[in-house]
Amino acid sequence: AKDVSRITSGQVIIELVSAVKELIDNSIDAGADKIEVTFGEYGTKFLEITDNGCGIDVSDYEALCLKYHTSKLSSFEELSLVSSLGFRGEAMSSLCSVATISVVTSSKSTFPRATQLTYDNMGKLKNKKSSVTGKKGTSVTMTDLFKDLPVRLKNFNKHSKREYTKSLSLIIAYLLAYTNIRFTVFSIGANGRRQMVLGTPGGLTKLTDVMVSVYGSNGQYGLLPLEIEELKIEARFRLNTDYAPTKLALKLLGVISDSSFGMGRSSTDRQFISINKRPVVHKKLAKIINEVYRSFNATQSPVFVLNLELDTHFLDINITPDKRSVMIHTEELILDVIREQLTAFYESKNN
Ligand code: ADP
Ligand code: MG
Repeated sequence: AKDVSRITSGQVIIELVSAVKELIDNSIDAGADKIEVTFGEYGTKFLEITDNGCGIDVSDYEALCLKYHTSKLSSFEELSLVSSLGFRGEAMSSLCSVATISVVTSSKSTFPRATQLTYDNMGKLKNKKSSVTGKKGTSVTMTDLFKDLPVRLKNFNKHSKREYTKSLSLIIAYLLAYTNIRFTVFSIGANGRRQMVLGTPGGLTKLTDVMVSVYGSNGQYGLLPLEIEELKIEARFRLNTDYAPTKLALKLLGVISDSSFGMGRSSTDRQFISINKRPVVHKKLAKIINEVYRSFNATQSPVFVLNLELDTHFLDINITPDKRSVMIHTEELILDVIREQLTAFYESKNN
């Protein structure tokens, strides 16, 4: 029975980057506006994520890491309206099945006391210790990733630098989607030295300024603010009788390269899409944006950081365990609107 649970839940955490994603999701869901991530030797020694969010309810300590335990969904109908990043209650339990998890948390009701919680591989609460910290929020420390999975462990140790780099790219996607959050990322090397590798100011920082924080002073080079809005889809959409959204507004908001700028043609590493602020991989949408841009500038690729705001009725975020790919109902219709409007945007800039 033990083995089965490890296989089924372990599927969520197949790489370091999945652990990073799940823990950041939880911090954002907790309402944090300050998140600190620390990698110990590229994550092979530890990964720690500290937030100043709401903290964990005392009543959740016991079941926190049990499968399907979540404080975020109260009824099944809510699934289509979910606005939190997590909702399955699987991440903490699958983290426990592949690593050692320790949590320090302080909520409004326990502050200034904090409680340290440790869990076993099955997600059962193993130890509880109280102390005074004076810091509200939660810190999750993961050690011994893949310690009982020799093949994955070997692979991880061999490619840890690559896994770490991949994790940093994902963090960049988050800090561009959540410019209001103050992110700090540290890396601790084998020599014990701590180095800051990423940092954003948070608060009311403009997206272009976050680009500068991440990529240096050229980070905002040639970027234009983009705001596409379409309110008419509802009318078109009503033709489809078996699917009737209560309201619809499509909005695509962010920054994109001016058609006279851009980056090298093959380079697409500064292209970020989020849907309802959930950083996603959406190849079709990325392709359309690139195609439109290239019809105005055939030799470059655009830089873009865009959030697509859609009514949750249009989304199926339950599609992959890590929710990185999202299905959009009536996708073609929505993509057509974006293609049309983005073309009009560049046409107006070129006149
Ligand atoms: P989900 O996010 O789908 O609810 P998780 O397994 O990721 O499931 O987390 C389980 C529960 O643990 C959450 O519902 C939440 O109550 C609590 N939790 C986890 N991390 C944090 C955090 N950083 N701050 C506050 N609560 C947290
Ligand atoms: Mg979660």
